[in-house]
Amino acid sequence: MTLLALDIGGTKFAAAHLDADGTLLRRAERPIGPSPSGTLAALVADFHDPGLTAIGIGTAGPVDVRAETVSPVNIPQWRDFPLAGAVRRLVPGVEVVLAGDGQCMALGEWWRGGHGVDSLLGIVVSTGVGGGLILGGRPVLGGTGNAGHIGHVIVDRDGEPCPCGARGCLETLASGPAMVRWALANGWTPAGDLAVTADNAAVQGPVTARGPVTAKDLADAARAGDAIPLAAFERAADALAVAVLNTAAVVDLHDVVIGGGVAAAGGLLIDPLREHLAKHAGMDFLRHITVSPTALSRDAGLYGAAALALLATGVTPRPTARGPAPDPS
Ligand SMILES: [Zn+2]
Repeated sequence: MTLLALDIGGTKFAAAHLDADGTLLRRAERPIGPSPSGTLAALVADFHDPGLTAIGIGTAGPVDVRAETVSPVNIPQWRDFPLAGAVRRLVPGVEVVLAGDGQCMALGEWWRGGHGVDSLLGIVVSTGVGGGLILGGRPVLGGTGNAGHIGHVIVDRDGEPCPCGARGCLETLASGPAMVRWALANGWTPAGDLAVTADNAAVQGPVTARGPVTAKDLADAARAGDAIPLAAFERAADALAVAVLNTAAVVDLHDVVIGGGVAAAGGLLIDPLREHLAKHAGMDFLRHITVSPTALSRDAGLYGAAALALLATGVTPRPTARGPAPDPS
């Protein structure tokens, strides 16, 4: 059995062949370029294989899983784009399933990340905050396919407006652009002393003549001991802790895996997150939540998309025992 996994990101598309055990056989990625549909067609053609059993797609959102359409923020050419249908036309007769990238990250980590657990909350902290839930060995996708949207858990009901229309969502405190924006508003001056010339809230956040001020700039400054960037990480970690505890209280889960560009700051985010979890936890069953960094890094979504494809064939993926999946390269 060969599964094709597709990962539709904001700047690149990745594809991989995996077998039913979740062994990654071959992987490639391409920049999206001026024609996303053309890039998709070329990538799928490259991975076309007569032995293909099913295709799983993990995609940047927004996603309408029922209509199988996507409108990724960073791909303006695709608005309500029928992604699953487009792939079906490229590979007729093969089952195609679609889920959000956060859901696929969680599913991939659960399947091949070696966490050795049966339930897991995956969180992607990046230009937005996304996630996915695995409960009792099954992904929870939800009635409209939107389960796991932890970025829109409200952590401050009087907080800043979120692009979603609500106020005080986790994403308004813990996304990379939100953290950078807060640090700048509170007196942080990025290295090079560049003035902010624009603020594209939907995509990249504050911009200087040098380019966007990134979460990595913020992490570098925090590591150098700058108090305001450190406070931005503390503040984000506190908000994440509240959202994690709220989720854990509802579904009684104890394992959290965190990935994405902001989480790449490692201990800068994860250490205060652990502290704030301990500080805010009330009920006994919420006092032992484990937070781990992603084991599969950028490939977690590909493993998850393959697990989704496997599920579509009627086979339940079995997670690996503790210890990370072997490196395909
Ligand atoms: Zn929101």
